[in-house]
Amino acid sequence: MNLKVLVLVIFTVIWLYNLLLNVIRMRSEKNPIPENVADVYDRETYLKWRSYHAEKSRFAIVTSTVTFLVELALLAFNVYAAFAGLFPKEDPFLQMFAVFLLSALSSLVLIPFSWHETMVIEEKYGFNKSTAKTFWADQVKSFIISLIITLAVGGILMAVHTALGDWLILAFAVLMTLLLLGITFLYPVFSKIFNKFTPLEDGELKDKLSGLLEKNGYKVRAIKVMDASRRTTKSNAYFTGFGKMKTIVLYDTLVESMTPDEICAVFAHEMGHGLHKDTLKRQFLSFGQMLILGLLAWLTLRTTELFLDFGFSGMNYGFAIILIMSVEFPLVAPLFGLLTNWISRRAEYRADAQAVKEGYGEELISGLKKLSKNNLADLAPSPLLVKLEYSHPTLSQRIDAIRKAEQ
Ligand SMILES: [Zn+2]
Repeated sequence: MNLKVLVLVIFTVIWLYNLLLNVIRMRSEKNPIPENVADVYDRETYLKWRSYHAEKSRFAIVTSTVTFLVELALLAFNVYAAFAGLFPKEDPFLQMFAVFLLSALSSLVLIPFSWHETMVIEEKYGFNKSTAKTFWADQVKSFIISLIITLAVGGILMAVHTALGDWLILAFAVLMTLLLLGITFLYPVFSKIFNKFTPLEDGELKDKLSGLLEKNGYKVRAIKVMDASRRTTKSNAYFTGFGKMKTIVLYDTLVESMTPDEICAVFAHEMGHGLHKDTLKRQFLSFGQMLILGLLAWLTLRTTELFLDFGFSGMNYGFAIILIMSVEFPLVAPLFGLLTNWISRRAEYRADAQAVKEGYGEELISGLKKLSKNNLADLAPSPLLVKLEYSHPTLSQRIDAIRKAEQ
């Protein structure tokens, strides 16, 4: 069988699968809201939530279809090979660069949609804080950063393949895991490009957080507040960095909307993740994922026919990565996601239990309710969606578990 036809068929199946998920998402808006989360939204906010989700899912169908059609055309008409033909044939790095450049350029088609999503939909529901200037600056920065990241990944694949041949699978997995760790490590640096961080001011919140961390022998380098309100009204909090170099980052929107005890509850939860080494476990899972990617890369690079079918005169590292990321991996990812999301949801329950243990059960519930409200979270997603792609249990499930742990 012609491999090109096979690729195009798989690519179409993946798009249909995503379409199906989006349709389920749209329809889940009719699901009844569970009793224990009925007070999260007042009627007006609830109606707003429904139309926000309807609009987002409908729009996701549009954007994923546009992306699909553009990519399908690039693949079907061998555009990648034609574009790469404009670059020196004998230089494999430039050949790879050509493919990534075309891929990045084709993603520019999505800018008007991204504009509509940020400046029209998010604006309509009061989330958007981006100005035209920050929007365009973000687009330029994202374009450059994604090109750099794909080139780094491609460069690693190329170097490992040239140097180690069939050892590629394992070596690629190890190097990619290191790269991911590097990105996690450099995340604070990256985010400084987009946001400002200021140390948390002295006061009740800082005292309480420090007390909580000290009591559990948990060391962090700093507690910082990020100016998230510049772009969004959604709120969040997270840890970055490793070991004793961890930094706690609080969105300024979180600090403004929650009481100090609720923020402590959210942090007792984050600390629970730390105490159970959840981040480490997640790294192991992502290593497993990288092994799968390594295996796919190995298979792809060996199959010269695949490249010939798409108009190349031989193997192209960039095109190999495009095939792996948009055709091969999306085919196996849902199965892998089923496992990792199940593990992740269990870890969330355990982290919630940690907050209960610290005596913050009720504050966690009210804090999570505020977070859900601020982020206009789905309170009644379809159970199938939760199993397939939710890394966190639903708010209702979490509240049930917290109340059970409190008894
Ligand atoms: Zn968590």
